[in-house]
Amino acid sequence: MVRTRKIAIIAAGLLLASGCGHAEKRQARTAGHRIAAGKAAGMKARTAPRPQRPPAQRKIDCDRLRCVALTFDDGPGPYTDGLLDVLKRQGVRATFFLIGQHVHGFPAVVRREVMEGHEIGDHTWDHAQLTKLSTAAVGAQIQRTQAAITKASGGVKPTITRPPYGATNRRVGQAIGMPLILWSVDTEDWRYLNTARDTRVGIKEPRPGGIILFHDIHKPSVKAIPAVIAGLKKRGFTFVTVSELFQNRRLQPGRTYSELLPRKTASPAPVTASPPPAGSPAGPAPSRSGPRPQQAEGD
Ligand SMILES: [Zn+2]
Repeated sequence: MVRTRKIAIIAAGLLLASGCGHAEKRQARTAGHRIAAGKAAGMKARTAPRPQRPPAQRKIDCDRLRCVALTFDDGPGPYTDGLLDVLKRQGVRATFFLIGQHVHGFPAVVRREVMEGHEIGDHTWDHAQLTKLSTAAVGAQIQRTQAAITKASGGVKPTITRPPYGATNRRVGQAIGMPLILWSVDTEDWRYLNTARDTRVGIKEPRPGGIILFHDIHKPSVKAIPAVIAGLKKRGFTFVTVSELFQNRRLQPGRTYSELLPRKTASPAPVTASPPPAGSPAGPAPSRSGPRPQQAEGD
């Protein structure tokens, strides 16, 4: 009896081990087949113990909700794993713009980021100011980072880039060939390294559709995040990744985006009520049939 159990445990261990390395890559590529095969086999417990594919992007209508995107630059770093714990506890998805040369030190963190539904963007290989580089060098900064991220993440390749310092131009944008994501709230956390300040700015400044810039390589910033999340939840915000924020828009490669702007609506649908008499002070307020409420008090 004991011996049988031992064998079973060893067998399970071997199955677990086979989920790593090359086998895993192959599995990721054929995930669709695997799921189908698993279903056919009744999804026995011997299938991989952890999910092999990142969760899908959620459908969230940020033209109607008060959305905000938390973004973290320059990682992965030693505090990122702790930050992921916080985000997981709070049910918050964020976006990480990674430095290529930092990836190899934290491949498990990169993997965790994608598997827990966060988005990953390219932030160049070594935080280069791209406008000072040749077009070929810009391409190399991006492609090398894409390769490192794709390898560490188990096949997830970024589709957005954040140029360091926000420095870009037409030539750089073309060389990158992805939408360039900037920010609407610069917390300047790297400058002050002050949790109380990060918390205050992070809660107060965002407006609906905003993109908040933090750095997960700084401990005071990471320490601020639980309170920032709590404060923004209190203000009615929904946390989304960058791609979720823009899911109702078609982002253009090489163009920069700092926030979700209200959709340009065609002429508003005719209002059913007859308009107030011209010049009537008692007439109804102009119809605000815009895509989302005006940015209101306290924003
Ligand atoms: Zn940066």
